[in-house]
Amino acid sequence: MALDELYQEIILDHYKHPRNRGEVDNADVVISSDNPFCGDRLRLTLKIDDGVITCARFEGQGCAISQASASLMSERIEGIAVPQALDLTEQVLRMIRGEGVADVLENDELSALKGVSAFPTRIKCASLAWNALKKALNPTNKKSRL
Ligand code: ZN
Repeated sequence: MALDELYQEIILDHYKHPRNRGEVDNADVVISSDNPFCGDRLRLTLKIDDGVITCARFEGQGCAISQASASLMSERIEGIAVPQALDLTEQVLRMIRGEGVADVLENDELSALKGVSAFPTRIKCASLAWNALKKALNPTNKKSRL
């Protein structure tokens, strides 16, 4: 199977069978984002305990790439610390923009998003979830937990 086909399969699989769809109970972070150029919409909820993302869920609608990207992301960020997630986010956004693939992404399912960089109109679709995560992990968006 050609690599391009494999990437396509991963994206279609996540689109048709999204992982972690839904909403986190008592979410620490709730963020909505949209991409008006394509009509993609996303709502991301996260549970964060002691600086670690313990649960990530998303709801949304839109094209296959936007939804698959969110599904891939939700699967990948569970169980990792916030700074790590922000690091990963920067690396994925760079890859999507065609600015290079970090070693850590080489053998990762996330590399299925690499091909998007060849399609400028799709870059916003693939980036939507990651830009939302970046916003979500900004400390000012975190609900105070007194
Ligand atoms: Zn889209």
